[in-house]
Amino acid sequence: MAEKTCAIIKPHAVQEGASGQILNLIELNGFKIEQMKKMQFSEKDAQDFYEVHKERPFFAELVDNMISGPVIVMALSKENAIQEWRDFMGATNPEKAAVGTLRKMFGKSISYNATHGSDAPETARRELKQLFNI
Ligand code: GDP
Repeated sequence: MAEKTCAIIKPHAVQEGASGQILNLIELNGFKIEQMKKMQFSEKDAQDFYEVHKERPFFAELVDNMISGPVIVMALSKENAIQEWRDFMGATNPEKAAVGTLRKMFGKSISYNATHGSDAPETARRELKQLFNI
């Protein structure tokens, strides 16, 4: 059965006009876009979304980045979607991301790494609930 994951095109990639290319690649790679919206995170919503990272030194920078402009948030489905999407995004640091991954193609740095993806089934459920109430 198809699994769902939460994917986000981060503000810098939206700002740079990369969303269309990323959406095209998402569909070409067999993901179905079940839900999608362009939205602006409030500071509180971004803090809640990344709550697991709140003790990390990069938390404030991460929240600032995520609220710096609109994002495109999606519920994607595919068999094994969570792992498939993470593989397609590539390593967190674009410098270490494999050729052909989204972060290699569209990431600029670890802070500006183009996309987000849920890291586990529980995270996907929590993120999709927060963003789409599904
Ligand atoms: P992801 O699951 O690959 O997105 O990585 P994480 O869940 O570990 O981190 C969430 C986001 O925080 C990443 O996508 C990065 O944009 C950012 N991040 C992670 N580690 C670092 C770091 O060491 N420094 C900075 N500046 N940002 C980081």
